[in-house]
Amino acid sequence: RKNLIHITTGSSALDELLGGGIETSSITEVFGEFRSGKTQLAHTLCVSAQLPKSTNGAEGRVAYIDTENCFRPERIVEIAERFELDPEEVLDNILVARAYTSEHQIELLVHIAAKMVEETFGLLIVDSATALFRVDYSGRGELSERQQKLNRFMSQLLKLSEQFNVAVFITNQVMSTPDGSAGMFVADPKKPVGGHVIAHASTTRIMLRKGRGEQRVAKIYDSPMLAENEATFEVSSGGVID
Ligand code: ATP
Ligand code: MG
Repeated sequence: RKNLIHITTGSSALDELLGGGIETSSITEVFGEFRSGKTQLAHTLCVSAQLPKSTNGAEGRVAYIDTENCFRPERIVEIAERFELDPEEVLDNILVARAYTSEHQIELLVHIAAKMVEETFGLLIVDSATALFRVDYSGRGELSERQQKLNRFMSQLLKLSEQFNVAVFITNQVMSTPDGSAGMFVADPKKPVGGHVIAHASTTRIMLRKGRGEQRVAKIYDSPMLAENEATFEVSSGGVID
């Protein structure tokens, strides 16, 4: 296998859970309910991926597919300061691509691949990987078409990760289930969207939940390689910390 790199998450406990950080040439999925910290973790990785390899970075540029208009440059600036990197340089190294439909989201991978030919990238983020597919194929009877399109997207992601030795980091929501009372739904923290299509393509799956205050708990989900342990971290102004 070529030079696999582990990119630090900013938390040594979470890095340890992941066997050193998020790995290149594979897809890492994080899922959890709203505000569980998925986007904050993605922002932290945008910065840490640019660190030298000697400090657990990938020394590469970052591509960020933003489907929910959640990318915040001002957060990147704060996180860059925490890692003692030049915020302007860090921002310049992040290619942000806003996706408006699931079809557009798939097309963006072609443009990103062309950029990866020209320059060294260490990380590709898709935040969220599934949201647009849920919107575009929400009707009855559209589930199999949705899964088919999502499958195409995921296999292209996997191909990119291997071809360019980049880490792919995707965020995913959880399903809502009826809570028993009429018409009411609650998020089921243990049920990621996308079923077997996402499960099959993701090498590592992280289930996130809120703990006390700014604490978050990450658990390895359904991994053939990693133990189903947990790690606790926090979200701070400087991004993910222990
Ligand atoms: P969604 O499913 O809605 O996209 P998410 O899992 O992506 O949710 P995030 O946006 O990553 O959630 O997390 C939001 C939480 O991160 C906030 O509720 C807050 O607790 C924490 N947070 C965000 N910014 C800061 C900050 N500057 N300092 C400290 N904590 C912050
Ligand atoms: Mg988010």
